[in-house]
Amino acid sequence: MNPYPVDYHIHYYLDSCAGPDMTCENIGKEAGKLGLKEIGIVKHCSETLPGGKDFVSWHLLREDDFQTFIREVRAFSETSSIPVYAGVESELVSEDGTIAVTGSHYEAIDHIMLSVHYMPLMECIGYQPLIHPRAQRNRIADDRSLTAEYDKWKEAASRAGTAAIIEGLVRGYMNAIRRNKKICACSHMYDGLLPIRDYDVPCDDLPESDLIAIFEPLMRLMAQEGVLWELLPEKIVHPAILRRADESGVRFIAATDAHSITGGWGNLSDHWQAEDFLAGFGLHTGKMREDIFSGIRPFRMP
Ligand SMILES: [Zn+2]
Ligand SMILES: [Zn+2]
Repeated sequence: MNPYPVDYHIHYYLDSCAGPDMTCENIGKEAGKLGLKEIGIVKHCSETLPGGKDFVSWHLLREDDFQTFIREVRAFSETSSIPVYAGVESELVSEDGTIAVTGSHYEAIDHIMLSVHYMPLMECIGYQPLIHPRAQRNRIADDRSLTAEYDKWKEAASRAGTAAIIEGLVRGYMNAIRRNKKICACSHMYDGLLPIRDYDVPCDDLPESDLIAIFEPLMRLMAQEGVLWELLPEKIVHPAILRRADESGVRFIAATDAHSITGGWGNLSDHWQAEDFLAGFGLHTGKMREDIFSGIRPFRMP
């Protein structure tokens, strides 16, 4: 049993994907019940999205919501008995390490949960597809423009080749980690390949040893920089990738990608299921490194 359970990926009611029950007060109460030692409440932060507008399930950042979020979580952290961090879940935008949180938003937060929600811009392909094949699966067949976009992407992807696409993703994560010191974790990482599978690139046809070799530079960098690998309690295709990351010194954190306290989708109350899932692979757990903040710490030890 993890002696220092943490959850840095707890969504807030201000985002429409989260339930109205995701208030600081409710989150704090549940964290107490679960025995969590630290929590991170996050706001989705997409300063940019493919096509420059709301994209599939993701919304462009609204400034007033962001300010309200920071104000409310900061006020709550003053009264909490455990550290409460105010962070964002944001996206990797490009292989060069650009992410969708910058400037004053970056300054205002404690930590970043870095996600790959859509295909980042990669050199080997040269453009970003304006489609999310998994999320739009049942529309692709009858929407001609989506079908055309998808065919164009598939052609470009097959010219680039599977290994080059995975390498582009890995370089993107690495450049982002080098350029953005507030990245706390790579969120919902699974075995690292979910975004690739979402776009139907046949990554699982490659030998597992090749996949591990492609991810090793990222593993070494994460270990060195203290960036955590987050796992949700969902199927892992290549546990060997996780074990290699663990051997490389990467530390893991469990989360449910909580969007509700209980009874909804991604429940904070299920946090220990995620801890047990992670423990089932024999992985080492970790916590946010303390030098991650450049600003005022949200919590002072009494
Ligand atoms: Zn996400
Ligand atoms: Zn999330």
